[in-house]
Amino acid sequence: MTISPSAQLIDGVALSRQLRGEVARDVSNLIQRGVRPGLAVILVGEDSASQVYVRNKIKACEEAGLHSVFDKYDATLSQADLLARIKALNADKTIHGILVQMPLPKHIDPHCVIETIATSKDVDGFSTQSAGELMTGAPGFNPCTPYGCMKLIESTGIDLRGKHAVVIGRSNTVGKPMAVMLLQKSATVTICHSATQNLKSHTLQADIIVAAVGRRDVLTADMVKPGAVVIDVGMNRNDEGRLCGDVDFAGVHKVAGHITPVPGGVGPMTITMLLVNTLQAAQRAAAL
Ligand code: NAP
Repeated sequence: MTISPSAQLIDGVALSRQLRGEVARDVSNLIQRGVRPGLAVILVGEDSASQVYVRNKIKACEEAGLHSVFDKYDATLSQADLLARIKALNADKTIHGILVQMPLPKHIDPHCVIETIATSKDVDGFSTQSAGELMTGAPGFNPCTPYGCMKLIESTGIDLRGKHAVVIGRSNTVGKPMAVMLLQKSATVTICHSATQNLKSHTLQADIIVAAVGRRDVLTADMVKPGAVVIDVGMNRNDEGRLCGDVDFAGVHKVAGHITPVPGGVGPMTITMLLVNTLQAAQRAAAL
């Protein structure tokens, strides 16, 4: 195996900073036309990770000049009351994007909640309508995490046409939309999952690998073709309790051509693409 000296780091913090700067400029232009993009974030319950995510989303909105509304409810909130609040936000002209932080308490059906959000405000891109739009190539909202991964891949300057991309993970929010977005760019796409046999035989053929599993060391150096682009979506904790991805970074960065770190890769891009989607929702509303 040829070992490259080390992969080029794909810096999600720097790319986020650049894209958020562009969002802030476009937000300011829209405000001059009398429209301030607005995002409503709903949190139900006390999940500590969710509280951090929500805080970061609100802070990012403020920094980019967007208007934000934060609704925090006790875990006892009824599904009917949550749906009523979403319907009110659907009708609120100052709100262009609605995000309900997952996971929800067990008595609330997440599918029902997502489907209640107006498609024009579904900036998470999780509804069946948004998924259908992505699948058919119709204009809509791309789910933020895979959308951010695409931006990271594109930042390498590599043309995806005819390249072999392997996505590890098939969730509705990351793996599946990721595969569709890669396909739209004319990559040849393989999707792997927990029943995939001999994962290494697939990843070794890949020019691009996206790992979205939620398990440390799913991808090790012996599974990567020299020069491949490796995008690590995973968020896990190592033995010392520090944040780490799905990829054995120390080993894989010696083989890959480009690689995202964790933290500082996909994480900041997810929030950035939420801002991009909310801006886009406001631009569409303003064009009506
Ligand atoms: P998920 O819904 O749990 O899906 C995980 C996927 O991995 C499933 O499709 C599963 O296959 C597959 N899988 C499990 N074990 C496997 C194995 N040994 N080999 C191959 N595939 C395997 O998780 P998710 O929501 O997609 O998230 C994945 C990871 O990304 C998590 O660590 C999550 O925290 C992280 N994440 C990060 C961000 C961010 O902003 N950085 C955003 C979203 C998610 P089956 O379908 O067969 O079960």
